[in-house]
Amino acid sequence: MRFFIFILFATFSISSFSQVQRCSTDEYREVLKSKGLYKYNKKEPLFNQSYSTNYDIPVVVHVLYNTEEQNISDDRIYSQIETLNNDYNALNIELENVPEEFQNVIGNVGFSFCLVQEDLQGNPFNGINRVYTEIESFQGFSDGMKKTDQGGVDAWDTENYLNLWVCDLNGNTLGFATMPGSVPSYLDGVVIDYLYFGVNLSSSNPYNLGRTGTHEVGHYFNLEHTFYAGCSDWDDCEDTPALASPTYGCPSYPQASCSSNDMTMNYMDYTNDACMYMFTVCQADRMIDALLTYRSNLIASTNCSVSLDEDMSSNHVNIYPNPVADILYLDIYNVSVSILDIYGRKVIDKHMVNNRQLNISFLPSGTYFLSVRDKMYKIIKG
Ligand code: ZN
Ligand code: CA
Repeated sequence: MRFFIFILFATFSISSFSQVQRCSTDEYREVLKSKGLYKYNKKEPLFNQSYSTNYDIPVVVHVLYNTEEQNISDDRIYSQIETLNNDYNALNIELENVPEEFQNVIGNVGFSFCLVQEDLQGNPFNGINRVYTEIESFQGFSDGMKKTDQGGVDAWDTENYLNLWVCDLNGNTLGFATMPGSVPSYLDGVVIDYLYFGVNLSSSNPYNLGRTGTHEVGHYFNLEHTFYAGCSDWDDCEDTPALASPTYGCPSYPQASCSSNDMTMNYMDYTNDACMYMFTVCQADRMIDALLTYRSNLIASTNCSVSLDEDMSSNHVNIYPNPVADILYLDIYNVSVSILDIYGRKVIDKHMVNNRQLNISFLPSGTYFLSVRDKMYKIIKG
């Protein structure tokens, strides 16, 4: 009887402060273990590897839709890529809100995410794989979204692409991910409910700024929750203070547990999107290490490149998508760019100060040349 009351109490207290399951990665891991699909052959980390400051991560987004609402716009997808690029390069505007005691451990991961430029057959591609499905809503851990024969779509070569599946997840799960080296390759990647993918300002839910993507991709690169193991503090990072339990909502600082102030603004906690805005130095190192140890083929591929120029010098700039409809993304900022038409006439001349987006929606369709850092890139405006 006492046990029964405990269950009732536990159920009530959890549901009272969280209507959503912020992340199901830990639960998914248990399901995979029970199916015998989880293996974790931890490789020796490559700590002696010299780190570059920037790595390009090629991304394919699979949009599984049964209704038009689920078939989210290109802009939503670009906004997710933009959020990832801001958050993984410490360029997000909220960083100034990091409390003083945590400012010296702010981590800059240095990953630049790009939508892949070619499909599996080598044809020009915008990185967005839209697939109609008969499935109205996918059962979270059934893996149906990752299997074409179950109404989903098979992963693209998981060695060479970060696969992001966007679909309707039934229940209240926002998303889940697989840790590196832990699962058969056909399951490897990140799943996010369509409501929580990208920036969706017309939504009033507090998970509308693309941070589910930032969080889940953190797992994909081997990060644990900051509250994992509670006060015994096992997330393999000394610079994330021990946290007794997940933090929901948007707490004011300071809030303490386990005898230290909580880093509730860490992306690997459970706060609202607007209230999580930092990785730590250790988390950044851990992700870079995971990339170089487990996922090095991601950066060996050239799937991010669109340059006309064969010279892949250090000045190379990634520009995507290409062909482009409205917004062109550059993986650098604080730079002057100009766009020339095929007659060499300058149609855009702009200094991009703190912005990686260039709106070219007003240009007529056709071929253009983008000039940046003394190089020319061919752009197809669709
Ligand atoms: Zn998580
Ligand atoms: Ca820690």
